[in-house]
Amino acid sequence: MPMAIVAAAVARPSARLGPLAVEAPDEDAFTLAMAAAEALGERARSSELARIDLVGDHAPEAEWAVPEALGLGGVAIHRTSGGPAHLFEAIRGHEGADPPGTRLLLAVDLSRVGRATGTNHGALAVALALGPGPGIRVDHVATHARSPRGETEGLRVDRLGRPHGSEPTALLILGDDERVVAAARTAGGPGFATSLVPRAPPGTGPAPTTPFALALRAPGVDDLPHPFVLAALGAERDVHVRGTVTGSVAWSEATPSPTLALSAPPVRDDERSLDARSEGAYVPRPRYIENLPSRWRLEADWCPSCSRLTFPARGACAHCGRTQELERRSLARSVWTVDAATIVRPGAQPTEFDGTVAVAGAYGVVVARSSEGPRATFQLVGPATPVPIGSRVVPVLRRLYPMEGEWRYGRKAIVVAASDAR
Ligand SMILES: [Zn+2]
Repeated sequence: MPMAIVAAAVARPSARLGPLAVEAPDEDAFTLAMAAAEALGERARSSELARIDLVGDHAPEAEWAVPEALGLGGVAIHRTSGGPAHLFEAIRGHEGADPPGTRLLLAVDLSRVGRATGTNHGALAVALALGPGPGIRVDHVATHARSPRGETEGLRVDRLGRPHGSEPTALLILGDDERVVAAARTAGGPGFATSLVPRAPPGTGPAPTTPFALALRAPGVDDLPHPFVLAALGAERDVHVRGTVTGSVAWSEATPSPTLALSAPPVRDDERSLDARSEGAYVPRPRYIENLPSRWRLEADWCPSCSRLTFPARGACAHCGRTQELERRSLARSVWTVDAATIVRPGAQPTEFDGTVAVAGAYGVVVARSSEGPRATFQLVGPATPVPIGSRVVPVLRRLYPMEGEWRYGRKAIVVAASDAR
């Protein structure tokens, strides 16, 4: 039985370059994918997950880093390159070849602005939980070379529906503005409820794969099951998707970050930029890797003697010293309360943060308390602004600094509710 999309979540990058959404210096494919996955909640951490599909701009390290960050050791990973055709093929899955159980699909599309190839567009990450349904099912995917003879040549509506014997009742057309408007005009004949998605969400710019997120928000479907046809218009190839809506999809958005305005395209990493040498708190790689459960999953040790939590987990209770039978528990990521706050101005940062400070300027640092009690220090996401004591923050996974040829990642915090107390 084909899997259906049962829940979806989207994460948008927090920087802007003119009208385009682009990655901030502390964001990349990994952090965007994780933000989307975490917005799915328990569905992305379920022990029922049989497989994770990574679609798009994921780095090779994502194959171990994504399961590590989700606490899903041993889950099967399947990688696919980007673009609408691969995305929809990954959603459709491979009947018979897929392990039984639910699947998590993480699709990431980084910004292409300033790159030599590809169209200019913004970045986005989409996380999809796939299961037996009800939801949105992809039944058939076909790609066609873009016709050189006309903008809408390959998009006549009668060609979309009839070969498969069922007349589509809704049509979603995705892609760059001009072709979409022209195609929608062609498609908007009687008998078709045309859903036109002429552009990506405000600030994200036109993006060939981005509007897929919008396709899931197709307006009211009363009759179920409900066949649909979706066309994603690419620069060279068009992708036509036939599917069935069998029920509504749970939709969520990642915690929005404060916006950072950039004056130049995001800097792409090279060997030199990743070779930062810290004069501050140097953490050898083995120790960094060893501490990932606490850094990434906020794992604490719970002590059965005194019923207290020690964070970060260190194999011993900080309160009574017990080292046996400690239980690993992840602290809630939902809301932490600010106990203390400060701003680190340019020049005062540890050297490993030189690169991000050069692009993003001063940053805030808070000491925050989890609802379970333990405290932690977090750098704040976004431009530095004063944060009143008592404000609420949410810890999110971000890039911290480059070291020994790679980015180090950890939890930073987003202010979700500033306290009125001064
Ligand atoms: Zn204890």
